Parts: sequence; C-alpha cells; structure tokens
Amino acid sequence: MEFAERLAKERRARLAAERLLKHKSRELFIANEKLGLHARALSDQIVEQRHVVATALGEAERLKGQETRFVADLDRAHTVAVMAERRLWDSIDTISDGFAVFDANQKLVAANSAYLALFDDPAITLGLPYPDLLGLIARNRQIDLGGVPADLWITDMLARWDSDLIEPMVLQIRPGTWIRLIDKRAGDGDMVSLAINITEEMRILAAIEAIPDGFVLFDREDRLVICNQNYRDIYADSAPAMVPGTTFEEILRYGLQCGQYAEAIGREDDWLSERMAQRGNPGTVIEQQLADGTWVRAQDKATPDGGRVGLRIDITPLKEQQAALEAARVAAEAASRAKSAFLANMSHEIRTPMNGVVGMAELLCDTSLSEEQRLFAETIRSSGEALLVIINDILDFSKIEAERLTLHPEPFDLERTIHEISMLLQPRAREKGLDLMIDFDMFLPTRYVGDPGRVRQILTNLIGNAVKFTEKGHVLIRVVGLEGETGHHELHVTVEDTGVGIAAENLADIFGEFNQVETATNRKFEGTGLGLAITKRLIERMKGEIWVDSELGKGSCFGFRLSLPIAEEPEMPRGTIAVKKVLAVDDQFINRTILERQLVPCGISVTLCRSGAEALAALKKESFDVIITDHEMPEMDGLVLTQRIREAGIDSPIILLSSSPKNAQDLRASETFAALLQKPILRADLYRQLQSITMPLAEVAEAVVLPEVSAPTELRQMRVLAAEDNRTNQLVFQKMVRDADIDLVFANNGVEAVALFQSFQPDMIFMDISMPQMDGREASLAIRALEAGKTHVPIVALTAHAMDGDSADILAAGIDRYMTKPLRKGAIAATLSEFCPPLARSPMPAAEENAA
Ligand code: ADP
Repeated sequence: MEFAERLAKERRARLAAERLLKHKSRELFIANEKLGLHARALSDQIVEQRHVVATALGEAERLKGQETRFVADLDRAHTVAVMAERRLWDSIDTISDGFAVFDANQKLVAANSAYLALFDDPAITLGLPYPDLLGLIARNRQIDLGGVPADLWITDMLARWDSDLIEPMVLQIRPGTWIRLIDKRAGDGDMVSLAINITEEMRILAAIEAIPDGFVLFDREDRLVICNQNYRDIYADSAPAMVPGTTFEEILRYGLQCGQYAEAIGREDDWLSERMAQRGNPGTVIEQQLADGTWVRAQDKATPDGGRVGLRIDITPLKEQQAALEAARVAAEAASRAKSAFLANMSHEIRTPMNGVVGMAELLCDTSLSEEQRLFAETIRSSGEALLVIINDILDFSKIEAERLTLHPEPFDLERTIHEISMLLQPRAREKGLDLMIDFDMFLPTRYVGDPGRVRQILTNLIGNAVKFTEKGHVLIRVVGLEGETGHHELHVTVEDTGVGIAAENLADIFGEFNQVETATNRKFEGTGLGLAITKRLIERMKGEIWVDSELGKGSCFGFRLSLPIAEEPEMPRGTIAVKKVLAVDDQFINRTILERQLVPCGISVTLCRSGAEALAALKKESFDVIITDHEMPEMDGLVLTQRIREAGIDSPIILLSSSPKNAQDLRASETFAALLQKPILRADLYRQLQSITMPLAEVAEAVVLPEVSAPTELRQMRVLAAEDNRTNQLVFQKMVRDADIDLVFANNGVEAVALFQSFQPDMIFMDISMPQMDGREASLAIRALEAGKTHVPIVALTAHAMDGDSADILAAGIDRYMTKPLRKGAIAATLSEFCPPLARSPMPAAEENAA
C-alpha cells in the first residue's frame, strides 16, 4: 500500500506537478504572448523611429542642397542686380533728357551724360554741390536768366528746392535750346532732377505765339490747354480766366460778367446757350462784336482727340471796309435809281419832240417834193427813227442794270407775234430780195403765257439783226417745242440767216454790252451794240438760255430756249377745209417744206413744184382744187404763171403769196386771185382762205360786198377824241388822219378829255398817257366810271417806248390797247377802221378798198 499509496501519492504529486507545469507553461505562454506583442510593438516603434531618423536625415540632406543652391542663386542675383543697375544707368545715359541725383547734402551723386552735356562745363562732375553747380551755370554767358542777376537767380533756385511742391521751370540754357527742370525729392532725402529738352515744344509754342491771329486749344473736356497772347489780347476782359484747365464755358461766363460781348448785353443767358450750341457744331464760322467795337471772326475745328482748336481773327478793318462798301453800294444804287429815273424821264422828254420830228418827216415825204427835198425829208425820218431805237436800247439796258425790269406775263400768241414782227421787217427784207420765212411747228400750240412785250423785243432784235446782217438769201424763223413739265412747253426758237456771219473769235463775247463786231463788212451797219446784251438778259430773266452758231461769210443762227406755260386756247371757230388737192409752187425749198408741213396735217395732198414750168407740167397731168404760188420767183414769176394757167383754161382758185403789198393792191383789183397772202404767211390766214374756197368765188365776193351796199347813206362820220397836251403832236396826229373821214376833236389834258367824253360822245378815244393836270390813266379810269353799264368806248393809249409796268398799268386803267410813239399813219388808220362802229361811215375808204 504504501507503495500504492506512494505511487498514488507520487501519481498525485506528478499529476499536481503536471497541472502546475501546465499552468506554469500556460502562464509562460501568456507571458510569452505578451512579450511577443510587446516585442512586436517595440520593433514597430524601432522601425518607425528608424524611418523618422531616415526622413530627418533626408530632409537635412535636402536642406543642405537647398542652401547650396540658395547661395548660388544669391550669387547669381547679385550679378544680375549689378548688371541691371549698369543697364539702367546705360539706359539713363542714352536718353536725351538730363537725369541727375543729388544726395541729402545736395551733392551731385549721379548724372547721365545728357545732363552733363546740357551745361557743357567740365567742372560740373559728380560730387559737386548743387549751389556750386548753380554758380557755374549762372556764369555761363549763354544762359538766359530772364534779366535776373546771377546771385539772385541762384538764391531763387535754391529757395525753389525748399518748397514743398517744386514747380517745374523752363530755362533757355543757350539760344534756341530750352529745358524744363522737374525736381522731386525722394524718400531718403535725395533730390532727383530731370532736365527735359523741350526745344521742339518751345518752337511750336513760339510759332503759336507768332500766329497773327488768336489761337486757342481746348481738350476733349473743353478745358483750356493753350492759347496765345493774341487770343488774350482779343478777349482782354476774359484773359484773367484763361488759365489752362478752365473750361470754355467758364471763360465765356467770365467775359460775360465783364460785359465783353456787345451782342450779349441784356440777354446774357440766351447768348450763352446760343454760343454753346454753336460750340457743339464745330466748323461754323461766327462773327461777333465785342464791347470795345472790335469785330472778331471765330472758327473752331474738332481735333482728332475730340478737343477744339480755334482761330480768332480781328476783322474790324474788314468790317469797316465792308461798311464803307455797303454805304458806297447804297449810294451807288441810289445814284443808279436816280440815273434810271432820269433816263426814263429824259427818254420821254426826248421822245415827245422826236415824235414830232419823225411824224412830220413822214408827212413831209407824202407831199410833192423835189428829188433833193425828198432825200432830205427821208433822211430826217430815218435818222429820227434810228435815234429812237438807240434811246430805247439805252433805256432798256439801264433798266436791266438797275434791276428794275419786271416781267408781266399774260397770254399771248407766239406765232402771231413772230408774224407781226416779220411783217414789220418785211419791207427791209424785200428791199434786199431776202426771203423771210416762218416755220412754226404744226403740232405746237401757239398761245402761251409770257411777257408779250419782252418776247417781242427779243424776237425783234434777233430777226432784225438777221435781216440787217444778211444781203442775200433768206432769214428763217423756226419754232419747235416739246411738252415739258405739266402745262409747260419747252420752246426752241431759232433765227437763221445766210448773212455775213460772225468770226469764231467774236462769238464768245457777242452777248456782251456795247459789242459790235468791228469788221470792214459790218462797219456800215448802225446800232448800239446793246441789242444782244439786252436780249440775253431778258431771256435769262425768263429763265431761258440763248446761244449762237455762226460761220463767217456763211450766216448765223441765233437760238433760244424758253419754258412757257400754255395759255388756254381761246374758242376759235374752226371751219373745215374742203380743199383736198393743192399744187404749191415756190422756188425756195424751205418755203415748199413749210407749206407742205402746214397743209398735210389738214388732210390735203400737196404737190410741190420748184418753178412755173414745173407747175405747168404738173397741171397738164392732173387737176388741183387750189394752186398756191409764190409771187417772186426767177424765170417765171407768180403773175406770169397765173396768166399762163388761165390761158391754159384752168380756172382753179389761185392763192398768191407775196412779200410786196404794193403789187398786192394792184393785183387785188384784177380779181385774178382767190386770195393774196403777204409773206411770211400766218398759218391761221392760210387756213381761213382755204376754208372760204369751199364756195364758188362769185358768192364770196357777193357776200363780202353785201353789207356795204345795203345802207350806205344813213351812216354818220366816226367821232374821234384825241387827248394830247403837246401841240406838235396834235399837229402830227391831225396830219396823219387828214385823209380819214372822221370828226376829230382834241383835248389838251385829261380833265378836258373826260368833259369831252360826255359832251362829244366819241366813238373812240386816243389817249396820251403823260399829260398835265390829269394823266391818261386817271382820265381813262374816270371815263370807265362814267360809262358804267353803257356802251364801251374803245380807248387806245399813246405811250412812249413801252416802259416797265406801263402795259400792265395802262391796261389796268381800263384802256383797251396801247400804241407806241412815234405814231405811224398806217397804224392809226388800221386802228380807226378796227374800232369804227357799225353806225359810222368807214373812216378809211381807200384802205378798205385795198383790204376788201
Ligand atoms: P447792234 O445794235 O449793233 O445790232 P447787237 O447787240 O444786236 O447790237 O449785235 C451786236 C453785234 O453782233 C452786231 O453789231 C453784229 O456785229 C453782230 N451780229 C448780231 N447779229 C448778227 C447776225 N445775225 N449776223 C451777223 N452778225 C451779227
């Protein structure tokens, strides 16, 4: 047992030991575990610390590198700084302006070459104190100290540096070289001095000063930049306000307060706003008067940067000159008006006796005279007429010159006007054997609104010249036209001749006044040389245009263009033309063409022949309703042709066109012709004749004769009242109507005329216009008032040359018509016949016979 016990004991002991071991080994294991953990943590720490150390080492290494680089950089930066400073100085040295630095002790510590060169004194070097430098400069004789003694100047210059704000200053360091000194104190007490070469600027400034007028420049804010002394002098009152930087308006206001602008006084605010408005409109030129009487012309222009540059010119002398000129002009105009009035009066005065001279000469020519006496009388008459033409020209011209010519437009018949003028000129043309032809465009209206008197004057001059300067051939008046703006016609009138012509070198000034082409060919022609000048001015007044084409020795063509309104056509009884076939004979090509152009539109077929022989040949082949033949033709004239036609047994009506009324009278009696028309023929006359040809000739004759034979014995004498204050003119008038079967009574003035109108009961009245006591106008007005409601008695005014306004005035006074003096027998006779009332005997029996 014991053993077992011992064994058991032993076993227990062993088991306990084993348990203890197990426990101990677990404890050991746990301790080991803990130790392991601890050891791991420790090793982690060590690793970490090792890392930290390594990092620190790396950083130290990097910093060391950096330091090395930094040192290198520092080295490099230093080099750069040194270089930059050198470069800076090099640059400062290259600039043309002077640059210098003085230290706090006023010693020159730096200066560029330009600075040193400016003073051009070897003694001026670095280290020199400022006062010494000033001393050296002041001693240089070339510098301009502005008249101040050197010492004083130096004191001033030193004092300048002591001020807080050092003003820039300009110095002329030698003639023609200026610098501007700009000094600035730096923070460390250094003084930096800039010496800018402003020679160019000063040159421009000097030029601006030298401008003889006021010059001013404002910036885009309208602030004064610069102005010259002249500007200040012109606006002396506002000169104190002319400080650079002051606005234009402020300067104006300053001037206004001083009462500087004469035109602004009393309306300052308005004036200012007007002036500022003008200001906003650069380029406008204004003229202003200042209170001291000066006149200024102001002109401003915008500068590219939006500023204003202006000039002020003293135009007082110009204004004085203008005023003197104006005064002279007014005086001259007054003198010219006086001259014009004088001329008008004189012309009347001259015309009245001339009327006597011309009228008496005409009457004298009608009496039986010896050859020599006739020559004398004819010369008196023609000289008198020539004198009247000259007086009329001078009068017209002076009136145009005095601009007193007014146009009086009224409806008139252009074709008739041309025709009448041609009729008047026909005798002169006939003397030379000239053909006077009118070609008035068929399709053109004939009535227009214009000044008939002036149109007549134009045409008379041109046609008259053409007749005057043509010895053989023709004068052709041609009128064509185009419809222009509403109701207007663009008329184109040409007067063509085959006369002496005008040399090319004379054409240019042919329309000038007193221009006569002086050549051997035309010295024999009389005239004032005013005709074309008047014509041109008249046409220009009518807004037309005149021109001329001419060839020396060949002929001339004067043309003019006018735009005239068409007048309402008067109601014209338009009969139909029954005639269908016409044979027209004329040796003149133009005449044939005109006839053809006039007839064809009426539906008439026209056969044209150049001669009598050609006509006879044509008549052999066929028959014609009417034969129209020219009178004057070479070889076989119109009369011979008529005779031959009748001999051939052809009895077609024949119309003779003749330019000789004398022959016409003889031929009329022969009753060979259906009609006799005076050349140039009026379209309307031709048509009228053709219309009447529808009836057998005998009937026409009867019809015309009938009223005359019906009641011949019951008629009384025509009563005519002539109001005329001038005895000579009364005599002339009396003699001119001595063949007329009339009862003539004279009134010596207007008052008498009115009285006689009532007592004498005239059938018609001739009324002189200018008469004492009561003139012709007043008398006519009085007569018209008296006869109100009763029969209208025709009044024909007798006037001097149609004066401006006369026609309108005269017609306004109730006068029916006017005749221009000197009076013509024929014209008076025609007027008498025209106004003879049915109750009275025909006043001109002879004339009536001729005209029947
Ligand atoms: P005048 O009163 O001398 O006729 P005008 O002014 O009418 O004055 O004419 C001036 C000049 O122009 C004339 O003297 C003449 O030399 C020239 N002249 C005018 N018309 C013609 C024409 N049809 N043919 C040739 N010369 C002409």
